[in-house]
Amino acid sequence: MSQIERTLGLIKPDAMAQGLLGKILDQIIGAGFRIVGLKLVKLTPEQAEAFYSVHREKPFFRSLVEFMTSGPVVAFVLEKENAVAEYRALMGATDPAKAAPGTLRALFGQNVERNAVHGSDSPDNARREIAFFFAEAELLPAPTPMVV
Ligand code: UDP
Ligand code: MG
Repeated sequence: MSQIERTLGLIKPDAMAQGLLGKILDQIIGAGFRIVGLKLVKLTPEQAEAFYSVHREKPFFRSLVEFMTSGPVVAFVLEKENAVAEYRALMGATDPAKAAPGTLRALFGQNVERNAVHGSDSPDNARREIAFFFAEAELLPAPTPMVV
């Protein structure tokens, strides 16, 4: 049995503006994830730049920061066995046109930038991204002992 793990997700401004919060959370809960933290946040440009700092040199960076600050996002922490990889699978590929049918990005994304949701890409980045949005005291305690 693999380890219980946590990952950080975002519902991006495009999906929030379309009223998709409930539908997306419903799919996540239906897929067996436990939501252990949740908040609505309006990112500042500085926060969006820091969150996506790995992409600082990419041609899409300025546009991405503009998009991510265009309206509120919902940040959440998910808990499940193998949560990082399982939530990436539930989201689908970055480009909704290439995402597998039934994935969140195929269902709700508009294009490679406005792709509805974010998910951490590794356990290390999950820890960094969870700490970016949440203090430990804001998260539900794990139901089973966790190895960190
Ligand atoms: N993005 C973009 N153009 C691209 C690639 C990515 O606008 O060609 C945006 C998109 O919103 C994506 C985010 O930048 O979700 C981060 O890119 P990454 O390659 O990390 O994709 P992800 O991990 O979100 O699938
Ligand atoms: Mg990424």
